[in-house]
Amino acid sequence: MFSSTISGRSGGAAALRVIAAMVVLIACAAGVHRLGERSQSALELRGRAMGTTFSAKVAGASGDRGKIESLIDAELQVVNELMSTYDPESEVSRFNRWSSTDRFTVSAPTIEVLALAREISEMTGGAFDVTVGPMVDAWGFGAAGPVAAPPSARRLAELRHRVGYRKLRVDRGSASISKTASELAVDLSAIAKGYAVDRVVDALVKGGYPDVLFELGGDLRAVGRRADGRPWRIAIERPVFRRGTVQREVTLSELALATSGDYRNYYEREGRRVSHVIDPRTGTAISSDVASVSVLHPSAAVADALATALSVMGVSEGLRLAEERRLAVLFLLRRDDGFEEVASSTFDNAAAAGLARSWP
Ligand code: ADP
Ligand code: MG
Repeated sequence: MFSSTISGRSGGAAALRVIAAMVVLIACAAGVHRLGERSQSALELRGRAMGTTFSAKVAGASGDRGKIESLIDAELQVVNELMSTYDPESEVSRFNRWSSTDRFTVSAPTIEVLALAREISEMTGGAFDVTVGPMVDAWGFGAAGPVAAPPSARRLAELRHRVGYRKLRVDRGSASISKTASELAVDLSAIAKGYAVDRVVDALVKGGYPDVLFELGGDLRAVGRRADGRPWRIAIERPVFRRGTVQREVTLSELALATSGDYRNYYEREGRRVSHVIDPRTGTAISSDVASVSVLHPSAAVADALATALSVMGVSEGLRLAEERRLAVLFLLRRDDGFEEVASSTFDNAAAAGLARSWP
């Protein structure tokens, strides 16, 4: 069924591999963990930020812990202070309370993320949409917390008037944004994490550390090499809640990898899995056979947003887009007897060589 869109050196039906396991998690892999044993000059750091955990590996930097910690903290703090919807004083939260349709001046990082989000909304036909927040809340996945019952069709129809990326104007020239519907709100949860990864990696490179692997909540990006001179490698774990089994090893050379999946943040209703990713075009919570979508891209922000968008689009629409744009994408589909792995043409090559075409 997907043989025309899948590639891979094996090609055709052979490219559809049935995996006897569940859900994908991205983690720092066996190869990466071995780094510490091989070289004393690599620094490893872990911490918590943006409601999740992060880990950093910096080759050739074992004595610079304090400096590296403050470089990382500074970037994570910028993103949090500007973009968190959990912080009522963040720039985004203040814009969400702003009920006027007048221009609202925002910082350069916020403009940059909103402009990128807009491009991805257009590219994905609205499957990615940072104005989807009211629907996320209605399903019980937002800052407001769980809900007793899923939203009715009528409620979703009402919410549609407040949702839609075209209702948000992003004007780079005047560094301002504005809403055409006064109740419009912005939720950057599906892109801000990737953006934070990009900022941290860029800051470390600029600070004199060209060999870095940085991971935040499962999204990661690598530059340069490990301390032993070999490229960074990471494992895509099997899609099971219990961590630890390797599904795929991927070489990450100047690449980011982001995964969106319904295995960590979901609830069951009437035997169906209800995911925290919402289809903004219909208002429904995604409930499909897609267990996870992983995207390789030079930018972690793009990879993060595309992984979410492709979860919404599902495997046939999603693969069509991936082939059209030559995106490196791996879908894991839930099957009765395990998991089916479906990759776009560029994924296998990118995963092996650590290269993916730049987009846009
Ligand atoms: P994770 O948080 O597990 O990394 P994602 O990157 O896919 O997952 O982001 C999911 C979050 O993005 C949701 O919790 C919600 O706040 C928001 N979101 C849900 N659906 C969409 C969508 N279609 N477009 C943009 N953001 C979305
Ligand atoms: Mg995402």
